[in-house]
Amino acid sequence: MSTIQQTLEKKIVQKVETGSINPYENAMKQLEIAARIIKLDPSIQEILSEPKRILTVSLPIKMDDGKVRNFQGYRVQFNDARGPFKGGIRYHPNVTLDEVKALAAWMTWKCAVVDIPYGGAKGGIVCDPKNMSMGEKERLTRRYTAMIGDFIGPYRDVPAPDVYTDPQTMSWILDTYSQMKGYQVPECVTGKPIALGGSEGRNNSTSRGCIITAREAAKVLKFPLKGATGAVQGYGNAGYWSAVFLSELGVKVVGVSDSKGGIYSKSGINPAKVQIHKDKTGSVVGFEGTEEISNEELLELDVDVLVPAALENAITKRNAPNIKAKIIAEAANGPTTPEADKILQNNKVFLVPDILANSGGVTVSYLEWVQNLNREHWTEEAVNAKLEEKMVSAFKSTFEMAGRYNVSMRDGAMALAVGKVAEAIQKLGMWP
Ligand code: GLU
Repeated sequence: MSTIQQTLEKKIVQKVETGSINPYENAMKQLEIAARIIKLDPSIQEILSEPKRILTVSLPIKMDDGKVRNFQGYRVQFNDARGPFKGGIRYHPNVTLDEVKALAAWMTWKCAVVDIPYGGAKGGIVCDPKNMSMGEKERLTRRYTAMIGDFIGPYRDVPAPDVYTDPQTMSWILDTYSQMKGYQVPECVTGKPIALGGSEGRNNSTSRGCIITAREAAKVLKFPLKGATGAVQGYGNAGYWSAVFLSELGVKVVGVSDSKGGIYSKSGINPAKVQIHKDKTGSVVGFEGTEEISNEELLELDVDVLVPAALENAITKRNAPNIKAKIIAEAANGPTTPEADKILQNNKVFLVPDILANSGGVTVSYLEWVQNLNREHWTEEAVNAKLEEKMVSAFKSTFEMAGRYNVSMRDGAMALAVGKVAEAIQKLGMWP
């Protein structure tokens, strides 16, 4: 077989494999492991095996060509024992109900790990935002908000951005929700533009938090980050800012990628210049002075720190054995399958799990909500100082849990989170 054929074959196998991995099954496998570790009451595990509420909505939208298209949308509210539901909304052609369910479960654990008083939810619309006009996206967002309007709100469920949604999307949600209520409700959504009550620092908080956890991991390992090498998979908001913050810590970022492919340069890549190239051409690929690599090759690069910042199931049992990074900090949600987790653990890779590593985003969402409820606006320094404190403390609690039960950081974080959610459920009791 020629090399091209082999690469093609590899790509097809990978596609079939990732497509068949169900994120909700993975989330439930993780829950099962945590349940065993903390000897969770089986009735609580029974409650946590399904979301509290699932909304499925159909969204007829008039497209720019005059035709009407019906889009499928979801809002999954997983658990609210610890506080109002909280979680982003994703626009992507591959959104499925099981994916949104998994993401809603992960939000529940995430808020518990980083100790903010929220439950977990997630929304998704099956659409291809890259091929939609601003007007089409606005109509879709407003219709979706109207359809889930009775089930969201500042004390019920607070949406935020996720993959391919941004502060503009949040503005449309805020306006639609407020118009329906008849008064302005800035606290109904987070990740808004500053002009509408958004928080300083929210824009890059997911990555800031993620790289803080990578830094804490390096401290534990007594591994100096200055002069180390790094790679980032995904070059959306989370990927770009992760590359920036890694560079600020003195890590030489040698590879980055997006959905169209990856780039590598032994001497390092300037994240801001790559972003300018991506804005112009639509991809990181082709950036001057770099060699083109595949996403698969990016994950297997010989680097010290790896940040998966794209979608679920990037690291599977197939490529996990080839991963050379010492530290993985998961900026994405669910990038590693449970089978891959075991392999990485056996290979002594220090993995900071998603529910800890990317909890900086929802942490600053929480700070935004608190500012809105109090009609305050804090400085970026104040926000970043609070984020730093939350991330370091959550890292410490997770590390202690992992040590106490002699398990991985993922299992430690899950044990910590599930324990907190279970305690809240227990204290609330059951009605009726
Ligand atoms: N979508 C982000 C996440 O997965 C942020 C959620 C939020 O701020 O509510 O954590």
